[in-house]
Parts: sequence; structure tokens; C-alpha cells
Amino acid sequence: MSFPLVSTQRDNCTDLYSVTDCFLRVLDFCDWTTLVAVSHADKSGRDCVRRVFRGRVQRVIGRLLKSWQCKAIFNHLDVTGAMISGPIPWAIMTIEMATPNDNLPTEIKIVTPAHTFQSWITVLQYIGFCTVSGSRVPNMPVTVSKARRFWAPSQNISIFIIESCSSSILSAVLALPFTSDMTLLSTSRLFCFYPSLVDMNVTLSGFRYTPDEDIKWWTSRGVRHFYSTYEWDGPCGSACPALWRHTEGLHGVGEFAWGGLFNDKDIEGNMGNSAMLSKAQFKWRIGVCCVNRFCQFRTRYF
Ligand SMILES: [Zn+2]
Repeated sequence: MSFPLVSTQRDNCTDLYSVTDCFLRVLDFCDWTTLVAVSHADKSGRDCVRRVFRGRVQRVIGRLLKSWQCKAIFNHLDVTGAMISGPIPWAIMTIEMATPNDNLPTEIKIVTPAHTFQSWITVLQYIGFCTVSGSRVPNMPVTVSKARRFWAPSQNISIFIIESCSSSILSAVLALPFTSDMTLLSTSRLFCFYPSLVDMNVTLSGFRYTPDEDIKWWTSRGVRHFYSTYEWDGPCGSACPALWRHTEGLHGVGEFAWGGLFNDKDIEGNMGNSAMLSKAQFKWRIGVCCVNRFCQFRTRYF
């Protein structure tokens, strides 16, 4: 008796998947984990998720920049090997249909390799952004050589350029104050170094001092912030601050190939600068000990 029922359910699902507009509408309501699962199902699923992702990029970044400004930024991301980090990729991963635009970030944070800062000034001036004299950005890790905020005079929008001390942006990214900063958008891929925390809508402070106003930026958008793992009610897993992790091969890093603004990347090896990340040899952790009583790496004092 149950077989025909299963068969009917499968037919219904097939019908649903074949109606692209309907399927896209359903995907609009799916969380990030579900989207990634669907993208791995087959080519049709991947194409649909890429469309949803590009729609999110348009909503999150397109409201900040005109199309030609966006193209100039993305082109220079490829030229320099830089990536967008923090609130923008986080918003793209977590945005819901009901998310009010007021909750979306108004700053684009870009981490760029050593010796590329000057070239960003040229591009940002070209698209109408400028620095405000005396603007100093405190609380940057030692792995950052320069950090400067650029403003669009007529809009409440800023672009924050962070230059790494080394040729890899990872040394700078993985020393930023919050785990929620450690999410990257390249011109063809998205990388998330703490995917389990994104799933739980949690950000954790690392070694850097995290000012109250920065914490409030996240918490006012429904993200739960923790200074330590003391209050966690389950094992840390790979998010444990005491755990040394390494970047080579990107183990434990969530990665999604979104195909780029025009869905022309990740085709026959055209991956922009993304392939460089997985070859970087860099180890990091965001604390020296863990105080989560459910964690196998918990610091013991006896
Ligand atoms: Zn732990």
C-alpha cells in the first residue's frame, strides 16, 4: 500500500523541480544548509541555487552600488586577489525574504594582499569614494599593514579596505575580531571558515578586543554573540577556539561556487582568484583555551 504513495510523492517533487519559477520561489525560503544540499543534487539544482545566490548578491550589494561601480569593484577583486569579508557574505548566506533592508550592511569590507592597497585608492576614487581625513581604524591585527575606510560623499555607504601584511589575505582574515568576519566572497566562490556558527546564527570573539558598538551591530540583527564558549550547551566541533586549524585544502571550510555576477566563472577552470586560497599554508586558532564543559578540548586545571 505504501509504494504508490511514495511514487506519487516523487512525481510531485519532480513536477515541482521542473517548474523553475516555483522551485526558485521555494529556494527563496530555504536556509543556507538546504541551498548547498540542493546545489549538490544535480546540475538543475546547482543552476537554481546559483540564481538564488546571484539574486541575494544583487539585493545585498546592488543596493549599495550602481552596476558599473559593482563591476569595477569585482574586476579589481580579481586583479588583486582580494575578497569581500564579514557582514556582506554573512548577509548573503543568511538573508531571508522578510529581512528588512535596514538590517543589511552598509559597508563593504575588502581584504586585499600586501602591496595592493594603493591600487584600491585609484579604483575607489574612480567610482566616487574618498577617504575622510583623520579617519583612523583601531583594533587591527598585526597581520594587517593598512586599514582605511572610504566613503561615498552623497550616501551613507562605506568601503573598508584592509591590506594584509603578506601575499595571502588569510593571515589578515583569520585574525579579525569576530568569527563572523571570517566569511569570504570572491568573484566566483563563497568561503565560510566557521559554517557551524553561521548555521546557529552565532559569532564568537577571537583574540582581538571587540568594542561594544561592533558587538551591537551583530546582536541588533539577531546574531548571538559570545566572548567565550563558556555558555555553549553542546560540543564546539571545529569551531573550538583552542583548536589549531590549517588552511591547506580548506578542511572544515564551507565553500560554494556561485559562478560570478554573470555566471561565467568556475567553468573550465575559470575560477578567478579562488584557487589560491586552498593552496595557502597557514594555521590559526582564535583562542588559547576552551571553557565549554561539553568540549573535548576544554582546558583542565587539574
Ligand atoms: Zn571547545
